[in-house]
Amino acid sequence: MNKLMLSCLKATELMERKQLRPLSFMENMQLHLHTTVCSGCRNYLKQTALINKLLDKNFNSLKETDTTNLEEKILSKCV
Ligand SMILES: [Zn+2]
Repeated sequence: MNKLMLSCLKATELMERKQLRPLSFMENMQLHLHTTVCSGCRNYLKQTALINKLLDKNFNSLKETDTTNLEEKILSKCV
């Protein structure tokens, strides 16, 4: 098998890893080549990007919510 051509399993693994740390030049090349020819992985990439965007948005809005009152209520119920 061509060294540059990844399997779909390896391609999705790289996509997940890319969220955690930057990929090497070679990994980026392989992933780019794979998503150019594989529509299934292109869709996967689009979906993970959307999911991550939505998660980020929701987590950020949670951070902005003032929970001081809630914390005091919970603490007042504790013995
Ligand atoms: Zn694929």
